[in-house]
Amino acid sequence: EEDLEVLDAATDDPDAIIYLPALPVLAIVGRPNVGKSALVNRILGRREAVVEDTPGVTRDRVSYRAEWNNRFFTLVDTGGWEPDAKGINASVAAQAEVAIDLADAVLFVVDANVGATSTDEHVVRLLRKAGKPVYLAANKVDDVRQEPGASALWSLGLGEPYPVSALHGRGVADLLDLVVGKLPLESAVAKNEVGGPRRVAILGRPNVGKSSLLNKAAGEERVVVNELAGTTRDPVDEQVELGGKVWRFVDTAGIRRRVHLAQGADFYASLRTSAALEKAEVAVVLLDVSAPISEQDVRIIDLVLESGRALVLAFNKWDLLEDERRRYLEREIEQDLAHVSWAPRVNISARTGRHLEKLVPALETALDSWDTRIPTGKFNAFLAELTAAHPHPVRGGKQPRILFGTQASSRPPTFVVFTTGFLDPGYRRYITRRLREVYGFEGTPITLNMRVRE
Ligand code: GDP
Repeated sequence: EEDLEVLDAATDDPDAIIYLPALPVLAIVGRPNVGKSALVNRILGRREAVVEDTPGVTRDRVSYRAEWNNRFFTLVDTGGWEPDAKGINASVAAQAEVAIDLADAVLFVVDANVGATSTDEHVVRLLRKAGKPVYLAANKVDDVRQEPGASALWSLGLGEPYPVSALHGRGVADLLDLVVGKLPLESAVAKNEVGGPRRVAILGRPNVGKSSLLNKAAGEERVVVNELAGTTRDPVDEQVELGGKVWRFVDTAGIRRRVHLAQGADFYASLRTSAALEKAEVAVVLLDVSAPISEQDVRIIDLVLESGRALVLAFNKWDLLEDERRRYLEREIEQDLAHVSWAPRVNISARTGRHLEKLVPALETALDSWDTRIPTGKFNAFLAELTAAHPHPVRGGKQPRILFGTQASSRPPTFVVFTTGFLDPGYRRYITRRLREVYGFEGTPITLNMRVRE
């Protein structure tokens, strides 16, 4: 009885169940300064609707979990990099390309006061070829006198332009009602195919060997099962047999067809990473052992942690590793990757094919951990033993007690503990550390949420 009640409470907790892998994806595309950020803030209901005025600012977050009318979806903001005039076409085209590959629907934003520019027309051609639903937001229509500017956008051939003012909110709700109402319940792109091949994202900074690994995996085994039809000229995902099992490598189009941009390439790399993670269950992060572990490597790993996906670390270019470098490498791993010491590590060479077969057991281990469910009874026995051995320290004359705990979800394992008071961060870390000692959880992040009962 108590179990059921608490489980209900846990599943009502928005923090308890965080990852819903098959949410529909809505992407926002548009030229710089048309008001994409303001619109994103509107949709997310962020009060601090700060619109970044500085061009060239790279925002870290590119994909958000959004809610509208009780419908949850993933909002992909492709507008983080605002290039100089010369690079505009390339940048906006790249945005559109990412959106086309990875979104279920696109919200295309145009400045109604400026009208359709040649850049806008260029993007429209890309979007129309994709055949995905596109909604045209005619932004900056702050009052009715500006509506003719919106009507003029019928000329783009995308259907009805919806006049909105992202800054003041005018018309935004109506447009979102329409767009979100028409999103599929489950993403066709980020589809969670129950029983289908497991979905793997190959990640890593440029030149670590992602496409080499893909080619080796697909080519040498000579069993590219099929190429999944994407909406663009390249397949978005590819299915490959490895270790006697079929795997679905997601967003391989993004690896094979690189966005060549001198400026802003980082932003698109991180956009791709976030979007691929949305679709994947497990990430293989490639690191290049011939170079020091970089901030960018760590950033990519942190994106995996944030996404809640399982993680395998692949140290590539092992054929180039010299003895001296090897000693540094060990030290770097201890220093820079201590927070993911639970991730399986494989040492490979995408070029020679060395130890590629070791990826398979690592992926399987990580996914098993990611799927793990610990029965409520067992978890509470674990908590009882833990608190008996190591009670929470007294704070201000009070000692918070753990009343009960449950695993609210798997993928990744997410636990909720109900307490009589706030648990010290150190104590929460102790609980997660013990969870790993007892249950392993090799290859998966785990989350511990706390609910204080008054
Ligand atoms: P991507 O940008 O991550 O897709 O990287 P690529 O697969 O294009 O690889 C970048 C460069 O590193 C290419 O010149 C590859 O031939 C080389 N490379 C990739 N993997 C290995 C490896 O295991 N050993 C060596 N020696 N070179 C590699």
